[in-house]
Amino acid sequence: MSSVIPFSPLRVTKDDRIHRPLECAHHHIRLDPRGGLVNCRECGATLTPFWALSMLADQYAIALAQIQRLNERLALADSRILELSTELDATQGIERTGKESPPRP
Ligand SMILES: [Zn+2]
Repeated sequence: MSSVIPFSPLRVTKDDRIHRPLECAHHHIRLDPRGGLVNCRECGATLTPFWALSMLADQYAIALAQIQRLNERLALADSRILELSTELDATQGIERTGKESPPRP
C-alpha cells in the first residue's frame, strides 16, 4: 500500500484584461474609511485597495496625457493667432498707406 496521495494537476490562470465588454469597469468607487473597504458605486462589487489604487493611477496617467495634448493644441492655436494677427496688421497697414497716399496720375 502506497502512502503517496496523488493530486490532480493544479492550474492557476490570471485575467489581465483591463476592460471586459459588457462588464462594469469599476471607475466610480466608494471608499469606506472606517473599514478600509473599496466598493464600486455602479455595481457594488468589493474591490481590493490595490486594484483601486492601480485603476486611479491609470486614470491619472490618462488625464495627464490628455492635459499634455490640450496644452500642445493651445500652443499651436496661440501661434496661429499670432500669425493671423501679424498678417492682418500688415494688410491693414497696406490699406492705410494706400488711402493716405493715392497713386499719382
Ligand atoms: Zn463596477
